[in-house]
Amino acid sequence: MAHRMIDSHIHLDHYEEHEITQTVADLENVHCTHLITVSYDLASCRKNLQFAERYPQVKPAFGFHPEQELPSEQEQSELFQWMEEHVDEMVAVGEIGLPYYLRKDHPELKLAGYVDLVEKFLVFAKKWDKPVVLHAVYEDAAIACGLLEKHQIQKAHFHWFKGDAETIRRMINNKFMISITPDVLYEREIQKLVTQYPLELMMVETDGPWPFEGKFARKRTHPEMIHASVSKIAELKDIDVENVYEKLYENTTCFYGLE
Ligand SMILES: [Zn+2]
Repeated sequence: MAHRMIDSHIHLDHYEEHEITQTVADLENVHCTHLITVSYDLASCRKNLQFAERYPQVKPAFGFHPEQELPSEQEQSELFQWMEEHVDEMVAVGEIGLPYYLRKDHPELKLAGYVDLVEKFLVFAKKWDKPVVLHAVYEDAAIACGLLEKHQIQKAHFHWFKGDAETIRRMINNKFMISITPDVLYEREIQKLVTQYPLELMMVETDGPWPFEGKFARKRTHPEMIHASVSKIAELKDIDVENVYEKLYENTTCFYGLE
């Protein structure tokens, strides 16, 4: 199949029902073979599991998104119990991580509870041999690297990663994966990251329904946008676009154990 790709990070449950039906119906035409849909909380996990049961192209990850108030002890144990019950249906633990943007708005927010929760997820991932999907940017990425090293977890995907040169070196050393969103078309910071990070450790994603700018302004975020990202990655790395498609596809199927 020519130019096939995978959206390695999308919040399918955050779209309207008719948008989900349409997006899944479009997948074959846009050569997208799979969607990795990540979860926000337990309700979101349940929805993503339903989509996966309905659509074979949809592969769910279960977790708790860090950019929100921490769940109570009771809610945490319910989530972990549910995840254990559905461990065979999940391709990864995610989305998990640290609340970078929430902390910017609320500097008084304590990080300790979020770190504890990430560690619980890492213990779970280790126990069940699942990859992890991380939301950890800038200085939080360094903290996440430390936690992964502590728990000896190698299969980690930092989605929409942003960070300093030191953290980039540390992540490459650990062979952690990153994924590139359509903002690679217009964000210099992301373009620079693409030139620095090995293609062997790269995937592509939309983080949909998160909206993009530039040529995607005011458009509903769709996996089709990934084709523009792949062309841009090929241009930035000066590698033949066919090879870039092939490598990104292989990276993603291998990391998530697809096919
Ligand atoms: Zn996300």
